[in-house]
Amino acid sequence: MKIGPLPTELDLRSLAVRGAQVEGIVAEESLPRLRQAGIEMAGPVAAAFSFERDESGRYIVVAAIQATVLMICQRCLGPISLDLNARSNMACVWDDQEAVALPAGYEPLIVGQVANLREIAEEEILLAIPVSPLHAEDCGTSEQKAALESEPAAKKEVSDRDSPFAVLEKLKT
Ligand SMILES: [Zn+2]
Repeated sequence: MKIGPLPTELDLRSLAVRGAQVEGIVAEESLPRLRQAGIEMAGPVAAAFSFERDESGRYIVVAAIQATVLMICQRCLGPISLDLNARSNMACVWDDQEAVALPAGYEPLIVGQVANLREIAEEEILLAIPVSPLHAEDCGTSEQKAALESEPAAKKEVSDRDSPFAVLEKLKT
């Protein structure tokens, strides 16, 4: 089955009643908030949602979002590609008041009659993006080490040449 773009207008509560599942992709053009935040995507976002009702009758949305973002490593300032896997367990609520009353383990998803799954996927990516992305390997440390090693060596060379003792040695011979 070919996976198409995510729908933008869905009644999440009726999907939960039906126990539906929705999968789709979101093109980079459909992610305006990420673009505004200066976050470059390495490709389209893959999203899978499953809808259900819990034992208290809440409308539950379980989202699994996969995306690869291109950022700048905060240690070596080189490009870094990050694979994000965001999973969340959300409960549909109508307002903030209902949101604060949710039990632990549910994230509030404030939605009206219809919701845009692309916007929800985008929000999940924004939440999953690290504030300070770093390469997994010790990128900065090795560069700093190299800088530290070359610096004293250069100084040593200069001091040998200019040393008054070196001049004396020359005069003795
Ligand atoms: Zn780095």
